[in-house]
Amino acid sequence: MSSHSLEQFLTENIEDLKSKGLYNVIDPLQGPNGPTIDIEGKSLINLSSNNYLGLATDNRLVDASIEAAKKYGAGAGAVRTINGTMDLHLELEHKLAEFKHTEAVITYQSGFNCNMAAISAVMDKNDAILSDELNHASIIDGCRLSRAKTIRFKHSDMEDLRAQAKAAKESGLYNKIMVITDGVFSMDGDIAKLPEIVQIAEEFDLITYVDDAHGSGVLGQGAGTVKHFGLSDRIDFQIGTLSKAIGVVGGYVAGSTKLIEWLKLRSRPFLFSTAMPPASVAAIIASVDILMNDQTLIKKLWENGDFLKSELKKLGFDVGHSETPITPCIIGDEVKTQEFSKRLYEEGVYAKAIVFPTVPKGTGRIRNMPTAAHSREMLEQVVSVYEKVGKELGII
Ligand SMILES: *Cc1c(COP(=O)(O)O)cnc(C)c1O
Repeated sequence: MSSHSLEQFLTENIEDLKSKGLYNVIDPLQGPNGPTIDIEGKSLINLSSNNYLGLATDNRLVDASIEAAKKYGAGAGAVRTINGTMDLHLELEHKLAEFKHTEAVITYQSGFNCNMAAISAVMDKNDAILSDELNHASIIDGCRLSRAKTIRFKHSDMEDLRAQAKAAKESGLYNKIMVITDGVFSMDGDIAKLPEIVQIAEEFDLITYVDDAHGSGVLGQGAGTVKHFGLSDRIDFQIGTLSKAIGVVGGYVAGSTKLIEWLKLRSRPFLFSTAMPPASVAAIIASVDILMNDQTLIKKLWENGDFLKSELKKLGFDVGHSETPITPCIIGDEVKTQEFSKRLYEEGVYAKAIVFPTVPKGTGRIRNMPTAAHSREMLEQVVSVYEKVGKELGII
């Protein structure tokens, strides 16, 4: 029997979420997470994955996984620092460093773990972190874990960043100051103003940290937002995920040899959590190989993104100010957003409603993620369903 106080807490809070339209229902897939998905025996066009390049279901990755599982087993057996490091892990890290144009790379079990690992390995209570107000939850948690003073700056507002950096520097209160930003903001699809951020960082001696979970495999010939701006040697930390465009699972930090050496000595998820399984590592190696040798999928992703965005805009939807294939469709009211998503589902389109706390209250949206794996016919079908449901609910 659970305690009375726990029971009361859970009941009240779950009911509260339901009444506000903030209760998220999880729909299990009955097969792969491809351009179409099967849910409850129904096939739907899928616009909700982060599988940007369709690599999650690519046979080259699947075959590499099977071979590695047969050779190395299903699990790594230990944390990286004891004897969980296999030659495959090192091969992947070397390959990623080459791909990212940095001296070295360390991998973790997830992108989320990277932010748990890397921030607190260098920042402590005598430091400050300037953090974009729309940064990802894992960055926020990573900052908290470090116990540094977190100073939020207005989203991509370079005047505000400069003013806060100046104030923090001149206060003399902090040993080190870091600036952290997403490379691509996942809910709006806009790109961080890295050239200005780097300039401000150089002026005030800030450590620079870019979490490029949504930029990797999408911008800069796949190498990410930092490469896109030609800033590979001027950013201290580049975080990437292996779970989105790369199509598998895991994350990495790319940076200088000395930084990576330190993270291998002192970052806690590296020291205290088991290494990534060999099948996943082999699949990631295959995936990065594809990206390094062939731009076809990236090109297709952008074509599909541009098509969907311009068609929805033509119909009169508010697609925000995305600069990437991420195509939000902003509805506003949370309950209406959920209703819109539900109607899309009934019409055969799977596009999730994103509401508070993932985005600010009153900015509920459908987040559409076209991928390289979608055909033009699928996207045309999506557009006609959007038109029908948009008119029906009085949104266009
Ligand atoms: C998705 C995401 C993560 C988490 O990556 P996982 O590999 O899924 O754990 C971290 N940071 C940002 C900015 C993200 O968008």
